[in-house]
Amino acid sequence: MLPSNISRQISKVLRLRSGSEIKVFDNSGWEYSILLSEISDTKVSGHISSKTLGFVETSSKVVLYQALLKTDKFELVLQKCTELGVAEFIPVQCTRTIPRTDNHGLTEHRLSRWKKIVTEAAEQSGRVHVPPIQNVVEFTDACRIVKAPALILSVSTDNNGLRNALLNSKSHSKNQPISILVGPEGGFTEDDINYARRSGLIDISLGHRVLRAETAAITAVSATMYELGELGG
Ligand code: SAH
Repeated sequence: MLPSNISRQISKVLRLRSGSEIKVFDNSGWEYSILLSEISDTKVSGHISSKTLGFVETSSKVVLYQALLKTDKFELVLQKCTELGVAEFIPVQCTRTIPRTDNHGLTEHRLSRWKKIVTEAAEQSGRVHVPPIQNVVEFTDACRIVKAPALILSVSTDNNGLRNALLNSKSHSKNQPISILVGPEGGFTEDDINYARRSGLIDISLGHRVLRAETAAITAVSATMYELGELGG
């Protein structure tokens, strides 16, 4: 039997009838085809006609540590990076993040809205995993908990490019998740970058033009997916 909100969507919005087939996933990596048998406004049931192991998920995980941004920008990053295949999001409070008093502005309402955004983005791109959004961490904690290979995007770094950093880290740590840390609108401070370096993160540049934080996140994730062969070869 399906949850009541999904039942309502099936019966009222999609107006499916008994005998229709739908695809569902449960975050286990499997995708199920369900042949619907009983449909009312509150209750929909059916049986599994087939199940397949989803191959839409990336073989190497990409984890995005994203500095908190103005709400609409942060939501854009969540949505687009879910479409691109990010495995997990970790919001980060940085030195230059616009300060908030109330739990980083992260109310229950906002968190459930964010979860809805990534769930819908995952569904629409046919993913079988909804990337989790972790609790907000402080910048220094992010640097401490992140596992190598980890990259930090810095506008003041000239020499390290994304491709080289990925090639080096791939040869050292095969199939490890790749973490990317992207700064807030105000950027990272020099101290932030030095702290990250000392913690083992590799600072990289996305070229000579300063991108807005949300552009930088989407670009870094796209370019990483491309280098990993996840954008169609
Ligand atoms: N005024 C800020 C700009 C911040 S851009 C400053 O001068 O630092 C917001 C974030 O996007 C940065 O912290 C960085 O993580 C990323 N970013 C933007 N452009 C970039 C580039 N060309 N290379 C690497 N990271 C970039």
